Amino acid sequence: MKLVFATQNQNKIKEVRLLLPAKFELLSLKDIGCFEDIPETEPTLEGNAILKAQYVYDHYGYPGFADDTGLLVEALNGAPGVFSARYAGDQKNSEDNIDKILSKLKGIDNRKACFITVIALKTYNQLHLFKGEVKGNIEQQRRGNNGFGYDPIFRPEGYIETFAEMSVLLKNEISHRGRALKKLRAHLHGVKSI
Ligand code: IMP
Repeated sequence: MKLVFATQNQNKIKEVRLLLPAKFELLSLKDIGCFEDIPETEPTLEGNAILKAQYVYDHYGYPGFADDTGLLVEALNGAPGVFSARYAGDQKNSEDNIDKILSKLKGIDNRKACFITVIALKTYNQLHLFKGEVKGNIEQQRRGNNGFGYDPIFRPEGYIETFAEMSVLLKNEISHRGRALKKLRAHLHGVKSI
């Protein structure tokens, strides 16, 4: 069964391929010839995830799912949250986003943060939402070369490594997206057709 993951991010495709039941053929946006930047105009993670999954369904006719992720920093009142991708501007540059967080947290002791992912699954006649969360801390400086986005400055609770110092397998085990995907996988295991 073909299922589209509505993302242009090849790192995410790599993470997700490892997690889905084998009966599903995971297609990327590139695989279905979708190269446009799907608008993310909703004020919530849920709204944006639904928007993207619905867009693929309406324009390309494929069932599939989309995720939207936010990094919520306690001392910044939950920012960047739903604006995580463009925190430092519309260029959506991860290095700039990290620099902005580190500069805003300069001299602040409370480094608590969490990642939240919401996944929206759009099938022929249903829409489901799955949520995953991981708590952690924002480090004083970048560490590690793996992963993407804010990974070099996010250290999950109970670990000494940042996400960027972990293997993709370990990150998947404990991450916000990994947890949301486990719920998606459990749902898809029980599904005979989509
Ligand atoms: P999106 O919802 O996947 O577009 O992500 C929003 C922002 O959070 C982007 O800047 C991503 O780079 C970042 N992001 C999403 N997932 C992760 C992750 O697993 N680790 C670090 N940063 C992430």
